[in-house]
Amino acid sequence: MLERVLPYAKTLAKDIVQPGDLLIDATCGNGHDTKFLAGLTGSDGRVLSFDIQAQAIENAKEFCESYSNIEFILGSHANIDEHLESGSAIKAAMFNLGYLPKGDKSITTEYQTTISAVEKIFSALAPGGRIIIVVYHGHPEGKVEKEALTEFLAEWPQKEAQILEYRYINQRNDAPYILCIEKNSK
Ligand code: SAM
Repeated sequence: MLERVLPYAKTLAKDIVQPGDLLIDATCGNGHDTKFLAGLTGSDGRVLSFDIQAQAIENAKEFCESYSNIEFILGSHANIDEHLESGSAIKAAMFNLGYLPKGDKSITTEYQTTISAVEKIFSALAPGGRIIIVVYHGHPEGKVEKEALTEFLAEWPQKEAQILEYRYINQRNDAPYILCIEKNSK
């Protein structure tokens, strides 16, 4: 059976992550992806997990309390460069765009900060590393973000990265889909 969108986003990370890797959850929310990434990299690795909402960080801390390899950061992923040591090599980063499930629907990711974070993460990404983005476009800001992000990624030089779009074209109701940027190996 073809792998569904949300499990495939995890597969894209699982296939490349080794214990000890540095990983990023750019949109922590309630912490589901953070917990998944923390399990993949293990106690020798580290996950930096960002959210601009204190409530999200609190929920995620509680959800991930058994993990000691996570650094929660209350702040925008667009400022990720302020939290990376020089020479850091990120192996994988995940984004779940949109708003916090069961939260304030007016607080969503926005294309300007999403694109800025993608650029900064890419510059610290290890060769063969991946930025995995689940695009939710069922709300107005999501549609704007999807358009801007697709336009931006489509222009990315092929000699630097391969960019995948993974989606089911016959699904209704603006079903989420994946964009994955894989940095070329040198
Ligand atoms: N993966 C999450 C989970 O397991 O619950 C869901 C993430 S939710 C779809 C998107 C999250 O991105 C929201 O919690 C929102 O507050 C956060 N967000 C929005 N803009 C952000 C930004 N500039 N930097 C970091 N997080 C942001």
